[in-house]
Amino acid sequence: MISMAQQAKSITQKYYGVDRRSFLQYMAAVSAIPTIAASADEISGKQHEFQDYPFTLGVASGDPEPDGVVIWTRLSPSPLSGDSLPEIPIATTWEIATDESFQHIVRRGNTNAMPQLGHSVHVEVKGLKPSHWYFYRFHVGKQTSPTGRTRTAPRLTDLPPLIRFAFTSCQHYESGYFNGYPHMQKEDLDLVVHLGDYIYEYGGQNNRPRKHLGKEIETLQEYRVRYSQYRLDSMLQETHRLFPWIVTWDDHEFDNNYANLVSEEQGISPESFLMRRKNAYQAYYEFMPLRRRSFPQGPNMTLYRGCQYGRLANFHVLDTRQYRTDQPNGDNQKPMTGKVFDSNATMLGEAQENWLMSNLSSSPATWNVLAQQVMMAPLNRGEGNDRRYSMDQWPGYELSRRRILKFFHERKIANPVVLTGDIHVNWVNDLQLDFEKSDSPIVGTELVGTSMTSGGNGGKPIREYERAAAQNDFVKWHNTNRGYVSCEVTPAKWTTHFRATPQVVEPGSTLTTPGSFVIEAGIPGAQRA
Ligand code: FE
Ligand code: CA
Repeated sequence: MISMAQQAKSITQKYYGVDRRSFLQYMAAVSAIPTIAASADEISGKQHEFQDYPFTLGVASGDPEPDGVVIWTRLSPSPLSGDSLPEIPIATTWEIATDESFQHIVRRGNTNAMPQLGHSVHVEVKGLKPSHWYFYRFHVGKQTSPTGRTRTAPRLTDLPPLIRFAFTSCQHYESGYFNGYPHMQKEDLDLVVHLGDYIYEYGGQNNRPRKHLGKEIETLQEYRVRYSQYRLDSMLQETHRLFPWIVTWDDHEFDNNYANLVSEEQGISPESFLMRRKNAYQAYYEFMPLRRRSFPQGPNMTLYRGCQYGRLANFHVLDTRQYRTDQPNGDNQKPMTGKVFDSNATMLGEAQENWLMSNLSSSPATWNVLAQQVMMAPLNRGEGNDRRYSMDQWPGYELSRRRILKFFHERKIANPVVLTGDIHVNWVNDLQLDFEKSDSPIVGTELVGTSMTSGGNGGKPIREYERAAAQNDFVKWHNTNRGYVSCEVTPAKWTTHFRATPQVVEPGSTLTTPGSFVIEAGIPGAQRA
């Protein structure tokens, strides 16, 4: 394993040729942080009595395993105005029970809310039973958190008859209200999957349904306030309270359409870019129910990981932002020529791609789910012979895209289903081995979720998308509503209901299901339900 300093050296030499000494000083400062998380359970924190309720941001759980789950909270009486908590570890206790009234507590423990992590708490509970519901809460001084509910994953060797989960993405706060979440809460789900754009980084603008606090976020404190503003939304907070979540990020958790070390804007110094990335990644960790394996290491954070639901479904959670080379052919929509075939370009980076392929090869599951961000199917959005593809998505990294699909095909990976966010429109795509040949085998299915709010009220036909749907044979369906996606997975079939909230610019919406699709196990591609 290469050291942080070596990594920094190669990064700076490769991309910038900056003053190495100042960069190394910076890296040394941030690389001390990981030890903080490891020590949270071991040191003896101070008791602290809060005058005001410290659990304003609620509770959350995530990354379920057969014997445990991460439970999360954060001590923050006034998250929007900046807490003036003592800069000390604050003693926190946690309990997990089989009943909501905590008559049957099965595990409890002490930990510390660490000041370096904004007094957030991440406990990796172990010793639980597979496929069970649990209730959990935290105590600090005389204060008690709301009671969260969570569920463990099935035993790895079991084949559960059914799991249900919902996925969503792209919840721009200013675009509207999270009206899908109250409907999601009423569904009987094992799990919620978030595919990124959990926050947006932009500064507040007037004349929108809601307004971000402050300017475009850059400092750690600004990212923390932004996450707090989102998490104070009761519809979002309640959905975290009710289900375990698997989260991954896209670009807006940091900066629009960024790639690896390259900002959307030009002329940003590498030090300030990496400092901002460190702030963004740290705040993300602080606010999400993630395991210690995802602890930020300065401007790096390992978010790609597996989450297995017995022999039924295996979630391969990807990070298509942190390791990708800069959009090889630039941004926007362009023909698929030239640099999209650059053999040095990569969407996942070598380590993640190798991990994914080995995780897929050894997967015992009926369904192999890629929980990721950007569209994999090569959607031609141009007109006539002017074929154009989004260069920020997989077709901008065409060789990476082909390698994955070829791998599905050659290794006979069982039932690949690719879940996608990012583009604020629902799409159902058959993933063909070679999209240039209409008789090329279908090797997987892509389900693209729309946004929770981004883009405001949807539902109207958009000409570019109507045209794209008509001229790309692999497209089975598309829909421009806002909402989320609900999936029922059994050993024989996968049923997807695209849920729509016609209205997001005001609180509250009805729910419709404009499309439902079925994938039969062993037969890639989606059919109308
Ligand atoms: Fe988005
Ligand atoms: Ca995005």
